[in-house]
Amino acid sequence: MSLSEFELIKKYFTAFDSGEGVFLGVGDDCALIDIPSNKHLAITTDTQIENVHFFKGTDPYLIGYKSLLVNTSDLAAMGAKPYCFTLSLTLPSAQEDFLSMFSQGLFTLAKKLNIPLIGGNTTKGELSITISAYGLVDKGKALLRSMAKAGDSLYVTGTLGGPGLAVDCGYGKVNVDESMKDTLINKSMLIEPRNDFACAIVPYATSAIDISDGLIGDLKHILEHSKVGCTLYVDKLPKALEFEQLNLSEDYQNKLCLYGGGDYELLFTCSKDNELSISKLSYEYNVPITKIGVINNDSLILLNHGRIIHLNERSFEHF
Ligand code: ADP
Ligand code: MG
Repeated sequence: MSLSEFELIKKYFTAFDSGEGVFLGVGDDCALIDIPSNKHLAITTDTQIENVHFFKGTDPYLIGYKSLLVNTSDLAAMGAKPYCFTLSLTLPSAQEDFLSMFSQGLFTLAKKLNIPLIGGNTTKGELSITISAYGLVDKGKALLRSMAKAGDSLYVTGTLGGPGLAVDCGYGKVNVDESMKDTLINKSMLIEPRNDFACAIVPYATSAIDISDGLIGDLKHILEHSKVGCTLYVDKLPKALEFEQLNLSEDYQNKLCLYGGGDYELLFTCSKDNELSISKLSYEYNVPITKIGVINNDSLILLNHGRIIHLNERSFEHF
């Protein structure tokens, strides 16, 4: 027999609904949350839809995990510490195997980041997951897109291009064996959160964004908001480890890293004076970082092995 709406909520979504600052979690018309007077509440929301953000038939554990990750990644990009989140879930039916796996994936990340689920909404319809996440950041300290300065160094965490390749494999555009395809899809969803590192670099970074739509697209947001340019070293981009095992052209690898998207890595700038502090934090938090460019007062310039590449150059466009 299928669960009623309220049985479903109680059974699968109340495992972690209390914590510091949560006066009242799941169960009443609203949750009640304390906000310290010296903090800003950082608010973000993202929706994940079947066949748009993940392939039909994807392991529900991965869907649950990533639905939260895409939100907490925005908190990281502001330098905000995860505080609490809500879940609006639309389901075609109350299938317990789906709900069980989905909630396990969701709470695995929630517990790792110590972010309680304080409420939500449950409805029937095509599968869609909307999460709103809330974070705290000291007033005046949030990492904005608008504060990059000429001379700053540009860094990225982790590696790029893996999730883009996973999508291309999913659509059958690239041929890899099934086990490699599974590895790529798993990794593209079980993304390592960067929140602790992001909070730690708040005193040293000038601007930050998380890479959701592709490095170039998201870098352009920093450049436009900060009214600056950037020299980007394409040959320095940290590529997904799997690239080495596959016979991919350099052009295609670069395309995945520059435009692939779904990386959810942190892209940030800092002054030269703070590079040492940041590299110490990278070591302390075990978060690999790579310097991939320098901010300038001019425009976006892509250098590949010292040669300028034009974004609309034909050889660059065909991939
Ligand atoms: P209301 O009708 O007053 O909006 P609901 O009956 O929809 O409240 O929900 C009852 C309680 O369950 C609320 O506290 C709500 O926040 C919570 N809730 C509903 N769906 C979810 C969910 N998917 N995850 C967590 N909490 C949920
Ligand atoms: Mg109500």
